Amino acid sequence: MNDLFKLAIDKILASDEIFIASHVNPDGDNIGSIIALGLALKKLKKNVRVIKTDEIPTDYLFLPFIDIIQPYEASDIDLLIVLDCGDIDRLGKYKSLLNKAKTIINIDHHISNTKFGTLNIVDDKAAATGELIYDLLKNMSIEIDKDIATCLYAAISTDTGSFMYDSVTSRTHKIIASLIETGIDKSNINIKLYQSRSIERTNLFIKSFSTLKTYHNNRIAVVKVTQSMLNKSNAKMEDTEGIISFIRDIDTVEVACLLKEYKENEIKVSLRSKRTVDVSKICSKFNGGGHIRAAGCTIYDNIFNAENKIVEKIIDMW
Ligand code: AMP
Ligand code: MN
Ligand code: MN
Repeated sequence: MNDLFKLAIDKILASDEIFIASHVNPDGDNIGSIIALGLALKKLKKNVRVIKTDEIPTDYLFLPFIDIIQPYEASDIDLLIVLDCGDIDRLGKYKSLLNKAKTIINIDHHISNTKFGTLNIVDDKAAATGELIYDLLKNMSIEIDKDIATCLYAAISTDTGSFMYDSVTSRTHKIIASLIETGIDKSNINIKLYQSRSIERTNLFIKSFSTLKTYHNNRIAVVKVTQSMLNKSNAKMEDTEGIISFIRDIDTVEVACLLKEYKENEIKVSLRSKRTVDVSKICSKFNGGGHIRAAGCTIYDNIFNAENKIVEKIIDMW
């Protein structure tokens, strides 16, 4: 076991009350990892609070013990464990917890991680934070039961594009194999995650795809989602899940870009790349970050100017 894991485990074992924090707009890796760790620490009879930073997208409501994630107030925190957050702004409204915690354990896999913890278990080679939680639980000799395995399977599957990204290693598959061996209902998890798109979401996809613009000899593809499209299709922003991978999959495309209009002058940008471009570097120019093949940032301008700014930067850094 490496020294960082050992230090983290000592700290966890010595703490009775443990807070586990999630990130803004939580994704499958984040949600799966916080529930898995929460359930595991409850087995040790720890007083665990798994904090809800933002609403849970409906895609993940099928996960076992999803209600373990709740909003909490805290004044003094002995141990705060932050999962899947590259920087402190990802904690959103719970950022202030960092000042209230005696010890912060930061467990993450973003290349852009700012190492804000007292202890930082940050491995950008891990395909998902779920892999690091698996390692942690194994090192603690905590039994990975079906519920924990379901959450970790969902975490790793969603953060790897169903085991397709470059970040996937033989270790990823070995972890997944051992999760499957616990008897999880893999078929149901996959149907819930990937084959349960609502009509509203489908209508949003249709509207969004009609905004497709390409640049740089069709190597860059951009689509937009505006508030007006959400209203017309009766969809929510979480229903954009799946749009960007569809445009990344165009044969000529190296960089796919999705622009999401949260407010008139607040555009959340998602970037994905296929082979060569480091999109984390591009997003860091706009105070964002992420991974080499998947990253995000926010541009405070209208959606058309945001499109120009991000496309210009992508071409500039090609
Ligand atoms: P998304 O496009 O929102 O799915 O995010 C892709 C990846 O980039 C995820 O791993 C996020 O954690 C990361 N990311 C997204 N937005 C930001 C941001 N504003 N700052 C730092 N990392 C981000
Ligand atoms: Mn995440
Ligand atoms: Mn992740």
